[in-house]
Formats: sequence, C-alpha cells, structure tokens
Amino acid sequence: MKAYKFRLYPSSEQEKKLNKQIELCRQLYNSFIIERRYAYREQKKSLTYNYQQNEIPELKNTFVEYKGVHSQVLQDVAQRVNRAYKNFFRRNNEKKEGKRQKAGFPRLKGKGQYKSLTYPQSGFLILENGQLELSKIGIIRMFQHREINGDIKTLNISTDKTGKWYASFSVEQENLPVVVPLPFINEPTENTIGADVGLLHLITFSDGTVIDPPKFLRKGEKSIGKAQKNLSQKKKGSSNRNKSKIILSKRHKKVKNQREDFAHKLSKNIVDNNDVIVFENLNVKGMVKNHRLAKSIADASWNTLVQYTTYKAESAGKEVVLVDPRNTSKTCSCCGHIKDDLKLSQRIFVCNNCGYKIDRDLNAAINIHNKGLEKVGRGTPEFTPVEIGALPERATPVSEAGSPRF
Ligand SMILES: [Zn+2]
Repeated sequence: MKAYKFRLYPSSEQEKKLNKQIELCRQLYNSFIIERRYAYREQKKSLTYNYQQNEIPELKNTFVEYKGVHSQVLQDVAQRVNRAYKNFFRRNNEKKEGKRQKAGFPRLKGKGQYKSLTYPQSGFLILENGQLELSKIGIIRMFQHREINGDIKTLNISTDKTGKWYASFSVEQENLPVVVPLPFINEPTENTIGADVGLLHLITFSDGTVIDPPKFLRKGEKSIGKAQKNLSQKKKGSSNRNKSKIILSKRHKKVKNQREDFAHKLSKNIVDNNDVIVFENLNVKGMVKNHRLAKSIADASWNTLVQYTTYKAESAGKEVVLVDPRNTSKTCSCCGHIKDDLKLSQRIFVCNNCGYKIDRDLNAAINIHNKGLEKVGRGTPEFTPVEIGALPERATPVSEAGSPRF
C-alpha cells in the first residue's frame, strides 16, 4: 500500500459541509464507544464491528442529518472504533505480559481530535481535469502534482490545524520489486490471530472480537422445517405433494448458498486482516454428538470456513495453523495452569493458581493463538501501536443490504 496526498481547495460552502460531516462522524464515533462500554459493563458483551455497522440504517432514520453523509463513510467510523478496540486488546495482552504499564482504554474524541473522513471503497471519483468529486459534498478543486500508479483502495479527506484540506489516496501497487528486509533490522510486524468456536458466540477471536451466528441461517432452517411439515401432510402421488417437494428443495438450496456465501465473506475478512491464523484442529464428527454445539458448527459450516480460509491464505501468501484443541479451554492464558474441570455452563474462567479472571471463550482463543505461534516458531508477536486515523487502512468488504456484512 502506498499513499498519495494532494492538497484540496474546497469552496467555503463545501468546507462547511465537510466540517459538518466530520462533526457528525465524531459524534457517531463517541456514541459507538459509549455503546461498547455500556454493553460490556451491563451485559459482559463485546460488540462487533458488524453489530454496530448494522445499526447505521436505523440511525439514519432517527437522526436524518446522517442521511447527508455517504454510508461508507459512516461504516468507516464503526471500523475505526473496532480498530481502536482491537489495538486496546492487544495492548492489554502486552500489559499482562509485563511489556507495558498501561493498556490505554479507547477514549472519546473531543472537538478537534477527529479530523478526517474516510471513503473505504466508493463515493469518490477523480475527474479528468484533476478535480475530485465526493458523494454528498460535490466537485472539489484538487492539486494533483503527480500521477497515481495502481489501484485506489481508500480515500481519506483530512484537515490540519491551519485549516488546509488534503485528500490521501491509499493505493495498492502491483508488480513492485520485492523488498527483502535486512536481517539485522526488526522483522516486519505480523498480524496473528487465534479463533475459538463456542456456544455463546460462533467464533471468539484472541483479540476479543466475536462473531455471532447469522440470524438468516436460523430463519432459513425454520423455513425448511415448515416446508418439511407441509410436505408430510400431502397425499403421496398428488400434484400438491410434488409442488411441496420443489419448495423444500429450493429452500435447502437457498440455505446452502447462504452458508457458503457467509463462509466466503468471513474467511476473506480473516485473511485480509491477518498474516497467521490459528484454528483448532477439530474432529467435527466427534463434536456433532454435542447437540447444541452441533447446531453452531452446522450453521457456521466450520469445516468450510477453515477450508476457505486456508486456500485464501495460501493464495495471499499467509499462513493457517491448526493446533490440538486439548486443554485450550482449561488452561489459564495468564499463567499456564491447567484446571481439572471446567463445566460448559461456566462462562467465566477463573484460575485457581493465579486468580486470573477472563471470558472462557476469549481465554481459549488466546491459548489457541499461543499454541499456533509456538508451533510455527513465532513466539509472542511484537506489537507496534497504530495511530488511528493517520492513514486509511484496509477496508472491510461490505456486501449489499440484506446479506451478511463482513
Ligand atoms: Zn493462572
């Protein structure tokens, strides 16, 4: 990724619009942070990017001024909050390892601390005369002092203290010479993650994010159940029975497609954002005996997800590691002590040895992550703090309305 930064010359009216939008985004950012804090404090729930992003359409209906902001710009606000939390969880892990003093909880942003808008994929166009067209803002004069080479991925519109405006294009460049880092220079920082399949949440990642089973799959299963019942009530050989059969097979097919689609989107997102991904090597056949878990696994097409992630990782030059699931739930991720017993109903892991308290799934995900890194000889990953909002980062793919968003 390479960034091209050009000066913008908005008219005073456009400047007003830009400032208004930045202010709306700042308020939204703070609302998302408050919502996450509240959910965690009151319900011990970690909200996902997905969850908050799905609230945007309703927000627009309640606070109509948000209709004046491009929807991807609003989604990017949810993405920034998500990144702030991911970074916090990472820092928190570091704190546990004694590498730093404070974890730095994600903070609310005051006026002047939120200075940019990001268009993650669309909503902007560079016109032939060098002007920049922004959705919901208009055509802005831009001083493009050099050619952009490569594919534009995101656009960040920002302002500085002196009131100057800039457009930063983040560009993916292909066929660039491969740069081999010298051995004595720090190794490039890798993003690594571990994933745990659970009962409460479909997946809990070692950075604290969770993925819940999509509702549409449950709905689809209900509609299959209805169609099956309907079929059983029809007389054999009747034309109505044939019709019911067709309906049933259509619904089966629809759910199957939805599952695959879900697995594709989720695996793409995982691979886009990580270099090493650790899963448990689950014997799915063995686990299906547990009924509740079976449902989650079937919904997620867990196997499919691991397969899709593996081949996507391979083609992206990234790595999927499978580890032995033994004791991943029962081990304390803080001191390594193994508990004798941990009932499925116990949501919080409490260590008898060091007293560490943590969400059971998150504990397991951290153990899976550590096992995986040990297996590939990475040990504990190094962490470089990322300055939020400084440079537009990779965007999360966003699908059409109605389908799952990952
Ligand atoms: Zn412990």
